[in-house]
Amino acid sequence: MRHLLSIGDLSKAEIEAILDRAESFAEVGRRDIKKVPTLRGRTVVTLFYESSTRTSSSFELAAKRLSADLVSVKAAGSSVDKGESLKDTVATLSAYEPAAIVIRHPHAGAAQLVANWADASVVNAGDGKHEHPSQALLDVYTLRRRLGSLEGKRIWIVGDVLHSRVARSNLIAFRTMGAELTVCGPPALIPRGLEQLGCAVTHSLDGLGEADVVYALRLQRERMRESFVPSLREYAAHFQIDSRRLGPRQLLMHPGPVNRGVELSGEAIDSPQSLIAEQVASGLVVPWSLLVIVVLVGLGVSALAGIYPARVAARQSIVTGLKGFE
Ligand code: ASP
Repeated sequence: MRHLLSIGDLSKAEIEAILDRAESFAEVGRRDIKKVPTLRGRTVVTLFYESSTRTSSSFELAAKRLSADLVSVKAAGSSVDKGESLKDTVATLSAYEPAAIVIRHPHAGAAQLVANWADASVVNAGDGKHEHPSQALLDVYTLRRRLGSLEGKRIWIVGDVLHSRVARSNLIAFRTMGAELTVCGPPALIPRGLEQLGCAVTHSLDGLGEADVVYALRLQRERMRESFVPSLREYAAHFQIDSRRLGPRQLLMHPGPVNRGVELSGEAIDSPQSLIAEQVASGLVVPWSLLVIVVLVGLGVSALAGIYPARVAARQSIVTGLKGFE
């Protein structure tokens, strides 16, 4: 796994290996000094062409805690504003010889293009409506901690599935981990043929009581060119998860940012069933693990197999660093 472009590229065993490594970083995160030398001397670039709070800050913090040199570029305020193309921007940043590039872009397939152009390992931090594999990993991590295993668990994904890269990546990840999936939302916001991904589709919350986990999605108004719902009030009346609809033993998730009072009621967000804060916390340890693995594999070290041969001197420090925190 030199790049992380799509969650479908990972097997169940590979997902588990990434999450097991994240567990060991969680231990580092509880220390007084939350820093390890694993990526010392390596450069990590984060390149964000779309707004982000959680994903950008979690990858930046992960790179810093791994002792990497961080170059953080947001399209607004960079030469992208002056018309520089993605390809030229990547060429410019490649001059710093980054070990990893973490990219978010409004166009599906952008991360794949960057992987074709750059020598660095590339992590897709969201490409348009297409995929958000790091979100899927942190959500599986969060659920694994709570439930032990996702095998046979019933997960409902509710809301604007059509515009959601999280829905696409999470459906694949949850299914790979053995969950039973139902997708729910108004017909205009559910892509046709979704059943082929191995999930049930419904347009009503009537059967929600069977769910072990309710995963709500944001109405992505910035991606809507026409009106997909009659009104927010009507949408909320039919599809909002509130304390009336959420049972006491059900778990509630949302990738954030939440439209409070639209897809979730304020009470549901703050309820004991809500894992939203835990998702944000997992959003730190999973990027640590991802950065280490893609960089090691990019350097030719078989990290997933747990083998760290220091074949050349240049790789020695990274390998020593990895042993240092394990
Ligand atoms: N933060 C997630 C994403 O970037 C979900 C969302 O924006 O609704 O896709």
